[in-house]
Order: sequence, then structure tokens, then C-alpha cells
Amino acid sequence: MQFTIRVKQIVAVTAIVGLAVVTLSALHITRLARVGLHESQARGELLSNAIFHRVRQVVTASPDPYSAIRTDPGLLALLQSSIYGESVTDASVTDPQGVVIADSDSARMGQHAAPRPDLAELVNASALDQLRVIYARDAGTHEVRQPMMLDDQAFGSIRIGISTLLLRQELNAALRPALITAGVALAVAILVAALLAQLFLRPIHVLRSGLTRLGRGEFGVTLDLPPGDEFGELGSFFNAVSQQLSEDRSQQAAGSQTPLQSAVENLEDAVALVNPAGVMLFANPAMQRETGPRAVGQPLSVTFGADHPYRRLVEATLESRRSQGPEQTHVPAAGATSDATGEDRLLITHAIAGADGGLVGVLLVSRNLSSFARMQSTLAYSRKLVSLGRLTAGIAHEVKNPLNAMMIHLELLRTKIRAADPALSTVGGALDHVAVIEGEVRRLDEVVQGFLKFTRPDDLRLQPVRVGALVQEILPVVQSEADRHKVTVEVSCPTSTQPVNADESMLRQALLNLAINACQAMPDGGVLRISCADAPRGRVEIRIADTGVGISQEHLGRIFDLYFTTKAQGTGLGLSMVYRIVQMHDGEIDVESTPGRGTTFRVLLPRATEAA
Ligand code: ADP
Ligand code: MG
Repeated sequence: MQFTIRVKQIVAVTAIVGLAVVTLSALHITRLARVGLHESQARGELLSNAIFHRVRQVVTASPDPYSAIRTDPGLLALLQSSIYGESVTDASVTDPQGVVIADSDSARMGQHAAPRPDLAELVNASALDQLRVIYARDAGTHEVRQPMMLDDQAFGSIRIGISTLLLRQELNAALRPALITAGVALAVAILVAALLAQLFLRPIHVLRSGLTRLGRGEFGVTLDLPPGDEFGELGSFFNAVSQQLSEDRSQQAAGSQTPLQSAVENLEDAVALVNPAGVMLFANPAMQRETGPRAVGQPLSVTFGADHPYRRLVEATLESRRSQGPEQTHVPAAGATSDATGEDRLLITHAIAGADGGLVGVLLVSRNLSSFARMQSTLAYSRKLVSLGRLTAGIAHEVKNPLNAMMIHLELLRTKIRAADPALSTVGGALDHVAVIEGEVRRLDEVVQGFLKFTRPDDLRLQPVRVGALVQEILPVVQSEADRHKVTVEVSCPTSTQPVNADESMLRQALLNLAINACQAMPDGGVLRISCADAPRGRVEIRIADTGVGISQEHLGRIFDLYFTTKAQGTGLGLSMVYRIVQMHDGEIDVESTPGRGTTFRVLLPRATEAA
């Protein structure tokens, strides 16, 4: 059996009070007994003195003292009245042999007086012995004995019987109020102890409930215990610990939960969790873009039509999982579909088993395959470029020599024409033809140079380059092109932006191409914004944004293709070059465009520090 602190406290207080009461009662009763005995003795002695006095009067007046004693009515009355005194049972006068001469009870006259213990002994005994005698089961009678001397002769004795039984009754009567007082004192003690326990234990209850709440995982539990005592100290200690715990927990939460959640939320794949009843429990933002936020908490059958691939696949998974029994932990299933925008999608479902092996839910993942397609086309493009590079390098060499020869011979031709007809009167138009041919040959030479530049990646000389400084360098060229189209140029490249790891001349070429394209896209004026900023994953982002004509959806996929141009005088080399340069720098390029609104090219390049 377990006692609560409250019970223990009550028992302890009651025991202390009880002990005090019992001790005091014992002292009280022994004192009472002693006083009672003394009183009885005094009373007996008083009585025997009175009797002796009377006996002496009777005896001196009579020649036969014993018969005078026996017959004196005064003495008899005195003896008989004695029994009305408290605790006195009898009184008698005996001769020296112990034979009763006169007695309060006349029947005993002439008999031998029974021997009885002397009260004086009891009065002088210890308190414990006194109580033992008074409360003995066969309580008897003691006597006060007084010898009678007449003319120096032992004449007999006076005996007064004192009943300890009567004494006991007297004691008991006196004891009753003491016992009642003790009982009341004990009851009051119990009550006070209970109230004190309530008062003292309140902080313990407060602490206990605080600990319980903390154990349940509540955050920021604080206790309101008045300061000033040990419980107050305990309370402020508890509050400190609780706060520390909350901080630790929130740090833990920040360290473990949030990244997982943000990972799922930022996933390009659409992810949903469906319970066995077919209700969607969770949908990440990518999924919610397809279903709308209200689909969470609703059955799939409400959100999707009967032949929607998501619903079909999830229901099939639930079905197969049920039929396969609980020992299987997951059933992957895959299917492909196309969504509203015609993008290819890969669907995956995982049946999730609980700790008991039962089905807890189905995870649905819908992956957009168009990014794979983009990657694949990039790969194919790179391969094409490599083979094209080899081819063009060869051709360029083959073409360059004849071109050089043609230039030399054109110069010779011009000299000869001048020599044949210094006035140029007959062949005046011939020199114009030479000039046109020369111009075309130069253009051809430029194209070949371009080819060679485009296909020679080993010339790449990487070093830390500040994009801001590079932009400032190309600004005059860009500005002259911009002025022609009434375009305003805005540059925002903070010097705090990290340098990139790049080949300076190539990067200059790429930025120039993008800026010139942008100006050309704004024939009626606009704003060209060039900006740089540090980007995640150790990169720097360069944006070239215009407010020009934009690029139509059908052209968007082709602008990086070699020779693709929509301009009458265009070569279609600019963006191919940019793409190639960015690729050689291990960077990324993408484009966003709204026809009629403008275009933004975004180039990501590795930081110099990262590369080092
Ligand atoms: P070119 O400039 O010789 O036409 P590019 O490779 O530089 O060749 O550009 C290819 C095509 O991409 C352009 O003809 C044009 O249609 C489109 N283009 C490039 N930049 C932009 C832009 N900033 N705004 C609109 N269209 C653009
Ligand atoms: Mg161009």
C-alpha cells in the first residue's frame, strides 16, 4: 500500500499531537491519583482523630472501657456517618488483638478484623504502582490505621477502610473531560494537518501538471509559483528548463522537418498522398496547381473523372495491394500520360505499409518528362556541335586558302585594270565588280573565321572576370546600337557581385550578342536592362532583359539553332555562339519571352572562387 505525501503528513501531525495528548493525560491522571490518595488519607486521618477523641471521652468516664465503647451511641453515630465520606467504606475500633469493638456495620462487632493493606504504603508508592493498584481488576480496600494509646498503653486501634474502587470512579469522572479534550485536540490536529497539506502540496500539484504538459510535448510551458521559498526556486528552475527544451525542440524541428517539407514542396514532381479510402490527404504545390487546393481532404473520385490517369492508377494500386495481402511493403506501378499542356508525364505510385503491415496509403508521383526531353535535345545538340565542329574546322581550312588566293588575285586584277586603262574610260564599271567580289569574299572570310571561333574550345582561357567591368567595356558599342533604336540602357551590376570563372573575350562576345539582339528587338524604342547578382549553388546570374517584340512560342525552341534567324540581314549565328560559349563555361542559359512584351535571357556562370 502506498501513502501519498498528504496522508503521511496528516499521520505525522496526528501522531505528534496524539503523543502530546497521551503524555499530558498520563501526567494528569497520575497527579489526580496521587491527590485522590492523599485526600483519602487525610480524610481517613481526620475521621480517626475524631473517633479517637470520642473514644477517649467515653473511656475516661467509664470503668469498663470496652463495653462503654461498644454501647456509646455518640461513637456509633460517628462510625456510621463515616461511610458517607467519599471513598470511605467503613470505620471500626479494635482491641490490641484485632477484635472489633465498635464498627460502622454492627454485624461485624466481636469478629476479627480482616487484615487489609495500609493506605500509607500506597500513598508513598510510585505513581505507576498507585495506578496499577487503583485500576487492578480485583480492586480491594486499603485502610488508614491509627493506634490508640491511653496512659502510654496500647489500647487498640482505629481502622478506616478506603476503597480504591471508589477512588477509581472518582478518577474516571475527572478523566472524562480530559479524554474529550484530547479527542477534540486530535480532530483539530487532523483538520489542520489536512489544510496545511493542501496548502503545502499545491506547488507540487502545479509542478506535476507542468511536467505532464511538458511530457506531452507542449511548447513554452511556464509555472506561476510565488517566489520567496524553495518551491518558488523550483518553479523558476522549471521555467528555465522548459524554455531551453522549447528552444531545443524548435531548433530540432527547424533542423529536420523543414528541409524535408520544403524539399517535397519545391519538388518539380507533383506529389500526393491518398489514404486507403481514396481521400487525398496531402498534395504538394505542384500537385495543387493541377487539382486546386480544395482537392486536399476530398476523395479522388470527386476531384478526378473516372478515367483520369491519376485516379485510375491510384485505385488500381489500392486494389492490387489489398489482394496481395499485408506482407508486401510497396507496389510500384508506372504509367505514362500527357497532361493538359500536352507534356509527357510519368506516373508512379507507392503503396505505403504501416508498422503492422497494413495499408496506410498510396503515394502518387507525377513527373514531368518535358525537362528530360529538353535535356536530351541539349545533349543531341552538343553532339551535333562536336561533329559539326570537326567538319567545319576541316572545311574552314580548305576554304581559307582559296579565299586568300582570291583576295590576292582580286588585288592583282585591280592593278592590271588600272594599268590597262589609267583613265578607266572603257572598263570603269569593272572595278566596281571587283569591289563587290572583294566585299563578298571578305564576308565569306568572316563566316569562316566565325566557324573557327565557334568550334575551337581549346582556346578557352579561364580566369576570374568581373561581369560588371565587362559590361562597362561593351557599353559604348551597345549604346551606339541602342541610340539607333531609341533604347534606354540600364545597368545594375553591384561591385559586390562575385567574379565569374570565364574567358574574358568569349564572355564579352556573348554579352554583346545578347545586348545587340535585345536592341534589335526594340525597333520602336524601349528599355534594355542588364543586371548581375550572386545566385545559389556558387553561381552568378546575368540577366539581359528587353521590352521588345518578344519571341513566339514556335520560334522559342529554335532560337539557339545554328543559322536560325528571323531578320532579313541576320546570320543566325549570334545565339548559337552564346549558347556554345555558356556551355563551354559550364554554365546555363534560359530564356523567357512574352510576344509583344519582351524577352529576358538569363545566364548562370560558375563563380571564380567555386571553380578555384
Ligand atoms: P540573328 O541575330 O542574326 O538573327 P541570333 O542567333 O542572334 O541571330 O538570333 C536568332 C533569332 O532569335 C533572331 O533572329 C530573333 O528572331 C530571335 N531573337 C534573339 N534575341 C531576341 C530578342 N532579344 N528578342 C526577340 N527575339 C530575339
Ligand atoms: Mg544576333
